[in-house]
Amino acid sequence: MAIRKIRELGEDVLTKSCKEVTKMNLRTKILIGDMLDTMYDSAGVGLAAPQVGVLKRIATIDVGEGPVVLINPVIVETDGEQTGEEGCLSVPGKAGIVTRPNYVKVRALNENMEEIELEAEELFARACCHEIDHLDGKMYVDLAEGGLHDVKPEEEE
Ligand code: ZN
Repeated sequence: MAIRKIRELGEDVLTKSCKEVTKMNLRTKILIGDMLDTMYDSAGVGLAAPQVGVLKRIATIDVGEGPVVLINPVIVETDGEQTGEEGCLSVPGKAGIVTRPNYVKVRALNENMEEIELEAEELFARACCHEIDHLDGKMYVDLAEGGLHDVKPEEEE
């Protein structure tokens, strides 16, 4: 496993739509392991494959409840609304206010290519929406109300 370079806003790869994963192979397994390593190394709650330069529909998320791997994820249901601060490993040092559903139901494949369905609320729901947007070449910066603001690394709540 290895830490991969995180691509930043302005790089072409972040604006492209990703391809579906049709089979699991060693290359994709290594990619998923590297994505988890890279996400934890940067203390992010989520990472999408295009953020490490790979145009595959894969996202990893951990909102503090353990790692979740989503392959070909689709949001099939949403409910409610939450408005709050959002950031992205591809936009370091910045955050913005984004409104997302408060609840989402996601259908995807796990790392064994088994169909899974998960329900997510609050931060987990926000992370699902954010990462799935990446797979369609969309960035949260286009949704941020009133633009982005600076976040100091050691800022206290
Ligand atoms: Zn992001």
